[in-house]
Amino acid sequence: MTTLAPPATIAFIGLGMMGRPMAARLAEAGFKLRLYDLSQKAVSDFIGAHPSALATASPKAAAQGADALITMLPDGKVVRQAVIEGRDAAREGLAPGALVVDMSSSNPVDTQKLARDLAASGVALLDAPVSGGVRRAIDGSLSIMVGGGAADLERARPVFGAMGKTITLCGPAGAGHALKALNNYLSAAGLVAMCEALVVGEAFGLDPGTMVDVFNSSTGKSNATEVKGRQFVVSRTFAAGFTAGLMAKDLRTAGEVANHLGLDMPVLKQSVGYWADAVGKLGAAADHTEIFRYAEMLAEAGK
Ligand code: NAD
Repeated sequence: MTTLAPPATIAFIGLGMMGRPMAARLAEAGFKLRLYDLSQKAVSDFIGAHPSALATASPKAAAQGADALITMLPDGKVVRQAVIEGRDAAREGLAPGALVVDMSSSNPVDTQKLARDLAASGVALLDAPVSGGVRRAIDGSLSIMVGGGAADLERARPVFGAMGKTITLCGPAGAGHALKALNNYLSAAGLVAMCEALVVGEAFGLDPGTMVDVFNSSTGKSNATEVKGRQFVVSRTFAAGFTAGLMAKDLRTAGEVANHLGLDMPVLKQSVGYWADAVGKLGAAADHTEIFRYAEMLAEAGK
């Protein structure tokens, strides 16, 4: 099993908010890239900045001649289409022994099935979702949660090393995706708690900036207070680069995992509903930090 070190060829599918900076890190590290995205503009913009990368016309074409294929797509259903079910799917172009790495935040139960289906063609799958957002995708310091075989992780380590700083083997196929969904449950719940605290505090006459500063030097500190509070919420710029629709999807995934295991988790269940309602009001494309506006709407409606 050869290690995937530069100049290995990587097929990269999905050049959105996250995929673009992640693929850029791979190009800068010396990997050869074969790109595919439904959006031709996403591909041509990328090649404008990284002319050594190659545009391809389908997942299958991207996969041809690649040592590994990375997907960074909205969810596991889209990944399944691109990799095995859709027209000109990647599997048709992959050589046996190639590695598929799904870095999207997908449903872990779907991932387990995808791993079994790919194994039947001699192709291994790692799930390797990421945390850290666009900022840490740009500087290559993502946290990468890996599910799959330890030997496959070792093979892919140079690829992960170009994009992330903390690389954790979480367990077998699906383990990375399960942990990612649960991580985002904590992240989403922490963000809502901060937003509700800010709405209540402001109504009491507290200054929101002062509140965030005090949270950050007190026990209320969280990722939300540290990297979203002043930056995107108090400033009302709402531009963290992760949509409310994708966050609601991650919450739904965490809820589905709990249901799949027959576990009743009331706060998780309520969070799933809260984010689904918020997306209904704000739109799926709203930045996830606009959840603050939803908290304000609820407060207003309750007056
Ligand atoms: P995005 O919507 O910005 O990008 C998705 C890309 O996939 C787009 O370029 C789109 O054109 C492309 N695409 C959609 N369907 C396709 C298909 N069938 N074939 C080929 N290309 C297709 O999303 P994003 O924010 O980059 O997120 C990608 C994944 O990473 C999601 O699973 C998300 O939950 C996860 N994630 C996002 C962040 C973040 O901060 N944005 C952080 C961690 C994880």
